[in-house]
Amino acid sequence: MTEAGASGHGYRLVENARLDARNTFGIAARAPMLVEVADAAALPELFGYAMLRDGPLLVLGGGSNVLFAGDPEGAVLALGGQRIEMLEGDGDIAIVRADAGVEWHALVLWTLGRGLGGLENLALIPGTVGAAPIQNIGAYGVEVGEHVHAVEAFERATGQFLRLDAAACAFAYRDSMFKREPDRFVVTAVEFALSRQQPLKLDYAGLGEELAAMGIDSPRASHVAEAVIRIRRRKLPDPALVGNAGSFFKNPIVATAHADALKAQHPRLPVFPLAPFPADAALHGEAAGAQSKLSAAWLIDQCGWKGHRDGDAGVSDAHALVLVNHDKATGAQLLDLARRIAASVEERFGVAIEPEPRIVGATW
Ligand SMILES: Cc1cc2nc3c(=O)[nH]c(=O)nc-3n(C[C@H](O)[C@H](O)[C@H](O)COP(=O)(O)OP(=O)(O)OC[C@H]3O[C@@H](n4cnc5c(N)ncnc54)[C@H](O)[C@@H]3O)c2cc1C
Repeated sequence: MTEAGASGHGYRLVENARLDARNTFGIAARAPMLVEVADAAALPELFGYAMLRDGPLLVLGGGSNVLFAGDPEGAVLALGGQRIEMLEGDGDIAIVRADAGVEWHALVLWTLGRGLGGLENLALIPGTVGAAPIQNIGAYGVEVGEHVHAVEAFERATGQFLRLDAAACAFAYRDSMFKREPDRFVVTAVEFALSRQQPLKLDYAGLGEELAAMGIDSPRASHVAEAVIRIRRRKLPDPALVGNAGSFFKNPIVATAHADALKAQHPRLPVFPLAPFPADAALHGEAAGAQSKLSAAWLIDQCGWKGHRDGDAGVSDAHALVLVNHDKATGAQLLDLARRIAASVEERFGVAIEPEPRIVGATW
């Protein structure tokens, strides 16, 4: 099958486009229409076309948090903007603005290179700046929402560019307003508030030990980033070598009473008491009752899945949370494996675990 292309001002259209190299699982998939947008200013013109305005749409960044269980039904839109700029930088707090198409890790390095702290614990997370607010990316005790000043977005229904402050984004654990309303916005740029005096967050398991192993006793933000990079390179499979989307399951959040009962039965179960996000409470319709986060990796490991393999669809032998495509697994095979893992955890522990990546072409 061939790809046919056309282009306009600030964008390029490709029909019947292959997506194999646009998702880190390396799943073979095709989009009926791929719209590559170099300049977000082209969006109002593009969304004048009914296919984009009214049809199913998938905005795709680096494809490191999607599972193509089938081909996308409608157009796929990829933003290419690459600008990073300092909007305000004189005081302690600097406002840095980056286009959605910028590679996330490149932005982290850019900010650290200018003495700005805050994003160091999020070093080496794959993907783009535009996707970072969608699931409020987090790692090593930090979530990006803590440093988002504003998100610039194009609203499909109105054809308007909006600037949403962090409160409007309703960030929560691996969640945001954008994730809950996936068809509403195209994120075009993100503004970050970063500090020259940002206190470091070093309490996450393994970080202090890694810094000690590096021989650093008074770390700066760039040392923390280096420690995170070293740990991540050791622990997580590289998508360039074996297809994966990082953690496939979110850590389940349960009522603390439920967590305590499980802990009494399984004393080794890692439980993290949670400072409730207002948005979580709103989302689950609960008064802010005490909640705890459980380790999904531990639950899955106890069910014996680590290293499991069904043909080319498998679970990493290093990390029970990571599903892998050993070579030619289909998205449907990986989804089937994920469902069986979740069913076994539910049966054994009475806890529902949910996928973290966006599943395209099927429902969970
Ligand atoms: C090895 C590995 C490690 C990982 N580690 C972590 C981790 O530590 N913490 C973490 O939080 N995540 C982690 N991830 C997941 C992933 O890197 C992040 O979720 C990342 O933000 C996804 O970026 P992306 O550009 O690849 O998004 P995509 O996978 O392309 O898209 C993800 C979602 O965001 C939407 N989206 C993307 N761009 C836009 C936009 N501009 N506007 C509107 N919607 C958009 C998509 O429609 C989709 O719903 C990991 C993934 C891998 C492969």
